[in-house]
Parts: sequence; C-alpha cells; structure tokens
Amino acid sequence: MPVSETTDRKAVAGLDGTASESDRDDATTDPNGLPINELFYSLQGEGRLAGTPSVFVRTSGCNLRCWFCDSYHTSWEPTHAWLELSEIVAEIETYDADHVVLTGGEPLLHERSADLLDELASRDYHTTVETNGTIYRDGPIDLVSISPKLESSTPTPERSPSDEDDTSWERRHEADRIDLESFTALIEDTEFQLKFVVTDDGDLPEILSVIAELRDAADVPIRDDDVLLMPEGATRERLAETRGRVAELAMEYGFRYTPRLHVDLWNDAPET
Ligand code: SF4
Repeated sequence: MPVSETTDRKAVAGLDGTASESDRDDATTDPNGLPINELFYSLQGEGRLAGTPSVFVRTSGCNLRCWFCDSYHTSWEPTHAWLELSEIVAEIETYDADHVVLTGGEPLLHERSADLLDELASRDYHTTVETNGTIYRDGPIDLVSISPKLESSTPTPERSPSDEDDTSWERRHEADRIDLESFTALIEDTEFQLKFVVTDDGDLPEILSVIAELRDAADVPIRDDDVLLMPEGATRERLAETRGRVAELAMEYGFRYTPRLHVDLWNDAPET
C-alpha cells in the first residue's frame, strides 16, 4: 500500500521532532490513528528473522536524525497519511503473512503504536518492533530490534543531509541517542536483538562500551549472539564498500553479522 504516495503530505507539528509531546497529541487528527509513511509486504531484510515474509508498517516521525537515515521521509522530511488503527489492521490482513514489522522513523514515539500492537497480538501476529531504543512503551512485542545509534550517526555539519545551516539537530541527536534506561526496560520485557549500524572499525570501541554498560544495567543476560553488526549503507554500491570489513569485525569479536537483504535484492527501492 503506497501510503507515502497517497498521503496529503502535510507537515504535522511534532513529527519533525521539533514540537512538544502536547503538540504531538494536538497534531493527531484522529485519536485512533497513526501517521503512516508506508505499509507494504516484503521480506525482512535484517536481523535474526532475515528472509521472513512480513508486512511492514512504517510510521513517520523520529526523535533522532542520523545522517545516514535510510528512511529519510520519516525523519528529515516526514511525510505520511493518518490512518485509523482499524484501517491499518484491515490493510495488514489483506496480505498472507504471519509476521508484522512495526518500524519507522521511531514507532515508539507514538502512543497509538502500543494499541496497534495490542490489536495485532489479539490476532496472533508475530510482531517485531524496530526502534532506536530511546523510548519505552509497554505493549505486546515478540521481538524488539534495538538499533542504538553511535557517535558516527550524528549529523555533524560535514555530513548532515540538510542544506540548512543549523546545528540544533546535531546537539539533540548527540544528547538523546543513547538512553540506557529505555534500552534496559525494552530488553527486560521481551526477546531482543541489538543491531548496530557499523561504518568502520572506529565504531567498535563505542559498541563494546554500550554493551558493557547495558550488561551492567540490565537484569537479563546479553549474549554475544544477541549483538548484530550491520554494515552501513542504503545502496548496493555503499554496502559493497562496508560489508566486507563489518563481516570480519563480527568474526573477530564473536558477534553476529546481519546482511541487508532488501538492499541486495532491490537496492534502495521504496517499499522494500
Ligand atoms: S533513528 Fe532510525 S529513523 Fe531515526 S533518523 Fe536514525 S536511522 Fe532514521
């Protein structure tokens, strides 16, 4: 369902991360709804469920601004249509799939995401939530896929995709990108994977540091097997530059390597 093509594309306060929580609530034109950027059927491309046919529900809006964001139209330039939960569920049910991936943007930015997860659980769907880990919401999730954002994701002036001469997102991103309290609450609640986007060797010290801090803080074990290294790159050309070294790093440190199957298969096409 190409929601992103049918949307009115109005810029709603809050989804660009510049408004307060109350602004966000005010902006919800339908109290039963969510801002949906895309809803489509594809293969899960990343993580331990890679290759699994799944329906993807991509919400719009993110509280971070990674320079390499591969869903630019949910973060830097958010676009969406507001769909009621009943409309979202009805669209999901048109596909012959057992797995639903709630992704973004940052899906846990939206209170209604928890309600959608309730609806999906009551219909026995397996749900994966792909999150940057900085927001906790209580809801039935089968697999939480947390992608902690490293310093190498911060949109410094040299690597910001925005033309604006404004460093406010650099500061906000840097301040908000790691939230141990939310991370631990998420992983103590449900099955999890920690998926780190790796640009080069320089990311490893911070990855090891985040894992060590999480192991100290969490009441559940974090196995090396729960840690996935994923090459940075939203195009085949860029992945060709990063994946070889990331695979070597996974072997060197005993973590898992995760491919980006959707990029291998469809490059950077939308709705994949
Ligand atoms: S956290 Fe995810 S959706 Fe948000 S800016 Fe970073 S890559 Fe994009």
